[in-house]
Amino acid sequence: MSKETPQAIRGTQDIFGPDAEAFGFVVETFERVRKLYRFRRVEMPVFEKTSVFSRSLGETTDVVSKEMYSFEDRGGESLTLRPEFTAGLARAFLTNGWQQHAPLKIATHGALFRYERPQKGRYRQFHQIDAEVIGAGEPHADVELLVMADQLLKELGIANGVTLQLNTLGDAASREAWRAALIEYFIAHKHELSEDSQDRLERNPLRILDSKDPRDKPFTADAPKIDQFLSIEAQDFFAKVTDGLDAAGVAWTRAPALVRGLDYYRHTAFEFVTDRLGAQGTVLGGGRYDGLMEALGGAATPAVGWAAGIERLAMLVADAREVKEPAADVAIVPMGAAAEAACIGLAATLRRSGLAVEMGFRGNMKKRMSRANESGARFALIVGDDELAAGEATVKNLGTGDQARLPLHAIPAHISA
Ligand code: ATP
Ligand code: MG
Repeated sequence: MSKETPQAIRGTQDIFGPDAEAFGFVVETFERVRKLYRFRRVEMPVFEKTSVFSRSLGETTDVVSKEMYSFEDRGGESLTLRPEFTAGLARAFLTNGWQQHAPLKIATHGALFRYERPQKGRYRQFHQIDAEVIGAGEPHADVELLVMADQLLKELGIANGVTLQLNTLGDAASREAWRAALIEYFIAHKHELSEDSQDRLERNPLRILDSKDPRDKPFTADAPKIDQFLSIEAQDFFAKVTDGLDAAGVAWTRAPALVRGLDYYRHTAFEFVTDRLGAQGTVLGGGRYDGLMEALGGAATPAVGWAAGIERLAMLVADAREVKEPAADVAIVPMGAAAEAACIGLAATLRRSGLAVEMGFRGNMKKRMSRANESGARFALIVGDDELAAGEATVKNLGTGDQARLPLHAIPAHISA
């Protein structure tokens, strides 16, 4: 009887080899940069009560209405695999009393889940790096996050061809006035809009600006702009953000139609975009979400943050340069049972001294030497019965082919030199 192997779930990826190295490079670089900016690490649950997301993102958002992986657990409670980090972090801020740490600068990374149509750069399980400043109403927080994002892209070597698109959604009053003007404008074109946008019209017209449907595009370009409706305070806030970016030497472009897909944004909204990833061109997005904590039943708490898709960043890294799996420093080639036993000790010593050691026990001498060459090591250490009896190894420089016998104890120094 033959057994069928279950297939992976559609929209998930098994990441391996150079792709996994590029993924790891993104995470390591993020970890380094977030420490430079003094963001504290947090680890968050992968699932939350469904209400954490439905109440904070808004019932009318694409994520909540179409994309969430929600299920009842065995106790009959509705749970959801996190589709984003921000709502869970806000929940944690409130339930753990993290107010005492405000302004709290935190960073995390991990897997997220959205039921979307899988394509290049769009998956059902994907991964983000995420940074948030919670309990900070000052434009400095927005600036610091943006400068950090800019430095991250530079250190990843992918800043070329990625631009920062920046907008303000104003404060509550500005946003409300803009919203009313958008409704009035879109109503005049109601029957030419996509069904989704007709739906959104009264409830959340800002979202029409974020539509990816080609039928909506002609109207979004000419829609009323936020600038006409910005209060003095909102203008002042935005000026402080752009002044800060200029002071830090971060290039930005004004994108007056840019809105974020989620309900809770105020003031600053931004995306880092590229045309090198086809339709999935947004690599990093975020903004200020001063309205979120109240939606979750907490006290009004200003906050700002961003998230970036690790897969999209890793694709840009792999486009910019060849990503290879790291080479070994040294390859050990033991020949014979006694040498194999001795080489286990030698390999452990070298690895404890910080060297990357390749060692295999399969095949004849020729096979073992070719594996040593493939490991990218500069040196092979060949240990047979002769060498073993003398307490030595033959050290072969795999670049030049030169070889010499050395006492085992002299080897770490010779290789590190
Ligand atoms: P998009 O407009 O591409 O759907 P979004 O506005 O839904 O993005 P956010 O919720 O802001 O995205 O998430 C931030 C980042 O996470 C995106 O800019 C992108 O890099 C990444 N991302 C979002 N959804 C996916 C996905 N399904 N697969 C891979 N990466 C994703
Ligand atoms: Mg989306």
